[in-house]
Amino acid sequence: MKLKFFGAAQTVTGSRIQFEHNHFIGLVDCGLFQGSRELRELNWIPQLELLKSDCVLITHAHIDHCGYLPRLYKQGYRKPIYCSKPTRDLLKVMLMDSAKLQEEDAKYANESKYSHHDPAFPLYTTQDAIGCLELVRSTDWNTWIPLTEAISFRLNPSGHILGSSYVQISYTNGNQSKILTFTGDIGSDRSQVLTGPEPLFETDTLVIESTYGNRSFKNENVESQFADIINEVCNRGGTLIIPAFAVGRTQDLLLILNRLKKKNLIGNIPFYLDSPMAQEVTSVYLKNLSELRKTADRSEVELALKTAFFNPVIHPEESRFLAQSTEPKIIISASGMIQGGRVLHHLKAKLPDSKSGVLFVGFQAHGTKGRLIKEGLNRIRIHHQLIPIQAQIYSIEGLSAHADSNELLALMQKLRKEPFKTIINHGELEASEALKFSIQTDLGWKSVIIPKMGDIIQLDDL
Ligand SMILES: [Zn+2]
Repeated sequence: MKLKFFGAAQTVTGSRIQFEHNHFIGLVDCGLFQGSRELRELNWIPQLELLKSDCVLITHAHIDHCGYLPRLYKQGYRKPIYCSKPTRDLLKVMLMDSAKLQEEDAKYANESKYSHHDPAFPLYTTQDAIGCLELVRSTDWNTWIPLTEAISFRLNPSGHILGSSYVQISYTNGNQSKILTFTGDIGSDRSQVLTGPEPLFETDTLVIESTYGNRSFKNENVESQFADIINEVCNRGGTLIIPAFAVGRTQDLLLILNRLKKKNLIGNIPFYLDSPMAQEVTSVYLKNLSELRKTADRSEVELALKTAFFNPVIHPEESRFLAQSTEPKIIISASGMIQGGRVLHHLKAKLPDSKSGVLFVGFQAHGTKGRLIKEGLNRIRIHHQLIPIQAQIYSIEGLSAHADSNELLALMQKLRKEPFKTIINHGELEASEALKFSIQTDLGWKSVIIPKMGDIIQLDDL
């Protein structure tokens, strides 16, 4: 068995890992690179090696794990794409939206002549997304599916977003058999909408994410932090803008906001979900209620998710009108790392306003506008305009959909024996290195590797 890392190696986007055994090639995740221009340009490099894959296994529907699929299709990929049932529902929304954005970007670049390429083409089109969605096959949880006589795979819930899965590969050589586990993104028990990640008991090789390998959120009281920030901003007459991922983060925010209102911890402040995609995604969550966490109040999650549709902001004009309004309010809008989307209009209107605030609730990758604002820049370029930043910048890390370092270690501790190899990916280098140190120090594991992009790792355990 051989692994090759094509992305999310010492960075958090562009997840693509190929495995090869007995001439069968599988690809785990097929994500887009996001963040800095250098990273995004990697999306344009033809990936002939990825095209040799006999199947793609998708851990979850975040774009940095699935957003390259239509490009692969455009380049000629026609083999199966496997994922969980809820992931399949989400892929339809995510890939169609992503294709639309690619088309709009190319159109905008051609109209405004901002592109270095003349004419600018989309990375892929809606037709490519439709074509690639036809290749998607969903599987049940915890069921081994044969890929060849010697290789099978199964998916188990990883608690990160609806449908997110660990991918486990079982493979044999003669009468020896081994298990290889890719964690994808791992969720946290802190999420109130989803059940936490399932424990892993058995694996010979572990490929584990490390987004927060250097952070612990154990002592954060998210609800009271959230209430304090909302009250502070709205009491001084400002707008609180929360850039949020449409999948996962938005649904958690809806639940917490409803709880704060129910407990009278915040006043009757209007909140708007200004992201048609987040609304569509919330509909997919409501369709998959049986996958969500069972709370004492059985209908609590369902009722909270339905509030996504209370103050609908459908048309772009409505969004622009909302951006200009001065009433105290909360606006949740995508994209989560301020890479695009309607949140840009809201920030353009409110960043210069010292009464307003921006609250970060998710990971902000290097090179994104979100990271720059969070790090305290005093102005930022939006739509080619320099915008001064007077609004107050807040962040609540404990709302992240990723396990922190303690939770990652606790998950590994449940394994019945030390894997032959533990491979750390999906993290910025300092986070991956901190996790490596903890694994070696706290668990005493010997073979821990942090691969670079393009690295090949031979699993010589068979
Ligand atoms: Zn994710």
